[in-house]
Parts: sequence; C-alpha cells; structure tokens
Amino acid sequence: MSNRLTVIAGPTAVGKGTVVRQILEKNRTVRLSVSATTRVPRPGEQDGVDYFFLSHEEFDQMIENGEMLEYAVVHGVNKYGTPRKPVQEALNKGFQVVLEIDIQGARQVKKSMPDALLVFIAPPSWQELERRLASRATESTEEQKRRLETARIELMAQSEFDEIVINEDVAKCADEVLDLMQA
Ligand code: 5GP
Repeated sequence: MSNRLTVIAGPTAVGKGTVVRQILEKNRTVRLSVSATTRVPRPGEQDGVDYFFLSHEEFDQMIENGEMLEYAVVHGVNKYGTPRKPVQEALNKGFQVVLEIDIQGARQVKKSMPDALLVFIAPPSWQELERRLASRATESTEEQKRRLETARIELMAQSEFDEIVINEDVAKCADEVLDLMQA
C-alpha cells in the first residue's frame, strides 16, 4: 500500500463514518485523523476519540499558530479542522492516513498536498439521502434542513474529486475505497 493521504468527503448522512470504520477494521495500516471541532459533543462522544472538542478561542489559537492542516465552518455554525501534527507523524511512521472532512477542507488539502487522493462518497439517490438523515434522528428538524441545504451544494462539487464511490452497500463501498488507496 502506498504511503499517502486520502480525503473522504461527501454529503451529510451518506454514511461516511460507517464506511471509514469498515476501512479501519479491514486494514490495520490505515489511521483516521481525529478532527478538532467547536461543536458540542453528542451523547456518547469522547474527547480525543471522536473529536477534540475545543472552545472557539482554543480553535482560533490553533489556526493562528499554523497548527491546522485545513479547517472550515461547516453547516454555517461550527468550525471543524484537522490538526497537522498527528497526520504528519502517522505519515512519517508509514501509515496511510484518512481524513473524513467536508468539501471546503478537501479543497484546501488538495492545494497544500496535491498528491492526496480525494474520494467523494455519494448516495444512491437524493431521496435515499433524505431518508437516511431523517432516520438518524440525531439532529433537530431545523438542523436537518440546514444539513440538506449543505448536501445539495456538496453534491454539485463531486466533479472536483479524483474518484466518486456510491455508498449503496457499506462493505462494498469500503472495499472500493481501499482498492483506490492501494492503486
Ligand atoms: P458532525 O457534526 O456530523 O460530526 O460533522 C459535520 C461535518 O463536518 C461532516 O460533514 C464532516 O465531514 C465535517 N468535518 C468533520 N471533521 C472535519 C475537519 O476536520 N475538517 C473539515 N473541513 N470538516 C470536517
């Protein structure tokens, strides 16, 4: 497997998280970067595992110090970003690193690390995406509406990616992404 960075992006509720978990289970030489966010933790989420949960001040300080590989305001409210150091360390140790980030972040990575592989996870259809978001039920109706608006814009950015993989079946989707990472 080549030693490089893979960015996985795609609209809300497309199942990126589940696909990424399968990738990590299937291949032990892949590491997932833990992002920083100003969003409040959801029930069960752990600091340093799911995210580094930071205050706006702490987040801005990291940006100022040049400690973010990329960052973006996602869904119009909170900041999300990739701490640079752990990614660099994992790459240096020979791991493949996966970033699960939004489209704006993906664009920034492509600019600063042109060798990165950009994979877009797409839903089988728009209707299916709406259904998945509603059935997840972790967000308020207001938040769901905002996320669907972002999703509509994100789907239009598919062509900027190196590869598009449709998440019809999670295991199959994870295998396809792993194949691309190995290519
Ligand atoms: P959630 O609030 O559901 O955990 O994540 C919301 C969105 O933030 C997801 O679409 C996810 O891709 C994006 N995101 C998570 N971490 C990062 C990051 O480090 N950088 C960027 N740019 N986006 C991120």
